[in-house]
Amino acid sequence: MKNISLFPPIATLDTLPTPCYLYDTALLEETLQVAQREASKYHYEIHYAVKANFNHRILQQIAACGFGADCVSGGEIQAALDAGFPAGKIVYAGVGKADWEIALALEKKIFCFNVESLAELEALDELAGKQNRVAPVALRINPDIIANTHRHIITGFKENKFGINLDLLDAVLKTLPALKNIAFKGIHFHIGSQITDMENFHSLCLRVNEIQERLAGMDLLPEHVNLGGGLGIDYYAPEEKRIADFAVFFQLFDKQLKRYHRQHIHFELGRSLVGQCGTLLARVLYVKDGSTKKFAIIDAGMTELIRPALYEAYHKIENLSSGGDAEKYDVVGPVCESTDSFGKDVPLNTVSRNDLLVIYSAGAYGESMSSHYNCRRLREPYFYGK
Ligand SMILES: *Cc1c(COP(=O)(O)O)cnc(C)c1O
Repeated sequence: MKNISLFPPIATLDTLPTPCYLYDTALLEETLQVAQREASKYHYEIHYAVKANFNHRILQQIAACGFGADCVSGGEIQAALDAGFPAGKIVYAGVGKADWEIALALEKKIFCFNVESLAELEALDELAGKQNRVAPVALRINPDIIANTHRHIITGFKENKFGINLDLLDAVLKTLPALKNIAFKGIHFHIGSQITDMENFHSLCLRVNEIQERLAGMDLLPEHVNLGGGLGIDYYAPEEKRIADFAVFFQLFDKQLKRYHRQHIHFELGRSLVGQCGTLLARVLYVKDGSTKKFAIIDAGMTELIRPALYEAYHKIENLSSGGDAEKYDVVGPVCESTDSFGKDVPLNTVSRNDLLVIYSAGAYGESMSSHYNCRRLREPYFYGK
């Protein structure tokens, strides 16, 4: 990592202004190609979940690789279009879509709205009518599956705010014929994020098979099935496990998911595409001695990377500046919150003021969740690789 040439080419690693994000575009390219190759074995289509990282250069690279986009706001739809994603490959999900966002998506003629409630379906019908358009719709169904992941990132369990509950599905289906400006195209699922236990996806397949059987009985088989995202990455071994196991992931769906004649199968991957290509670089401001421990106080905080504070997430950290013996530090940021911490008892080569620390696996939900809290200002990221 020491001898890399950065873009924009104004700094070397040693003089880099911190905190800043650094993206490895060669790793991103390789990841995209592996994902694309494994998905295409089964003619699966992937939409990149823009919320994981909406940096313009990253979006451009993903669009250039032929992916579609999965957006959750009007702003994301615009960002995706600006980066070169074709409107015909954009899906739009989200529990709360404002009228202007729906209008924008209708005007741009996106591929599909993933609709999460009857109330939304009725609003969409009305807005589409005003524009004299028919809105292509997939119903987001809550499959009632608990994923083995952090409780804050489970999305597919009963009475979660996401999706249409299974027991309400029939009622929603019955209203469809009356909604003249709605075209029922697909069904959509997304059970959570950072899922590494493939059993969870297996359960999803079985549930989708049941639902499709019901739909077939009602003569309502959809043209496409969208299984969402959620494939996890290895936060503990970012350098050894640089690319998620896309082969195993897609093969599981090929084996377990019943696919009806001519049905298209879509996925929405975020973290697994961009997570490992981004790192956060930070400098040590001070080493502070506590009574029983040492704190490495760094210039990056929850304002740059909120995952540890928000989800108790683990990120591997290394000291790039020192070869000294490993000692344990609590690595904390400068923000006025107790949760502004990157890890307790983190083993690091002896830390001194101005040392450069690297926080790995920060490409997903890092820069995109950053904030201006404490009037902090974000720096533009750097790129290397491609
Ligand atoms: C966030 C999200 C995704 C992507 O999730 P990852 O865990 O990053 O793969 C996909 N679909 C929907 C509807 C989402 O909200």
